[in-house]
Amino acid sequence: MLKEILQYQKMDANLVKIERELENSDAKRVVNQMVEQVKNAQNKLVSIERSASQLIADYEKIKQEFEQESKRLDDIKQRDFHELSEAELRESSSDISKQIANMLSLNKEITGLSKKIVRTLNDFETTKQSGVLAKKKYNESMTRYNKFAGDKTQKIQEIKDELARLEKQIDPKLLERYKVMREDHKFPIFVPLVNNACGVCAMQLPNARLDLLKEKRVLECENCHRMIYLNDD
Ligand SMILES: [Zn+2]
Repeated sequence: MLKEILQYQKMDANLVKIERELENSDAKRVVNQMVEQVKNAQNKLVSIERSASQLIADYEKIKQEFEQESKRLDDIKQRDFHELSEAELRESSSDISKQIANMLSLNKEITGLSKKIVRTLNDFETTKQSGVLAKKKYNESMTRYNKFAGDKTQKIQEIKDELARLEKQIDPKLLERYKVMREDHKFPIFVPLVNNACGVCAMQLPNARLDLLKEKRVLECENCHRMIYLNDD
């Protein structure tokens, strides 16, 4: 009864090997890296866009303030200075100085914001370009990976056909158990008892469990949950 599943596992090991080759291939590694890079670039673009619109809103607000101050200065200049008393003249002169100081300070802010906006736009462009580059590399690696995987398709199909043939001879309960573990990427699933321990994780079996194993011929490892079997020889 065990012989069939062990034979099945031996055949399946060929498939696991190919799957691991594909998963660990250079092309697959680059594909995964590029997916990550494209995602990062997209997130960064969203955040740059957000700060750019904030900067532009700030810029518009200060520009408006500047225009208001400028209008106020014009109003002061419109006063008929001939009609003013000395005290009023001094007041007007002080108003003009204040207006000019305000405008200079606003102008400084505008210059600072303009510089920030330019920097943000440059940052946006650089990030966009790195995203485009990552996308291009992703496509290239994906083509390379598909070619690499395509070369293995026939071999994979052959193994799968053979596995399907072998399945018919296996105890359905054992097979179901096997497939669940296989889905979990555990391999091998059936492991021999080695020195009274699990053949993979080396967890020792107490005497009571050893007796049970002798009786049942196969027993789940309490540590790694693989199926420990007793070698007949
Ligand atoms: Zn184990």
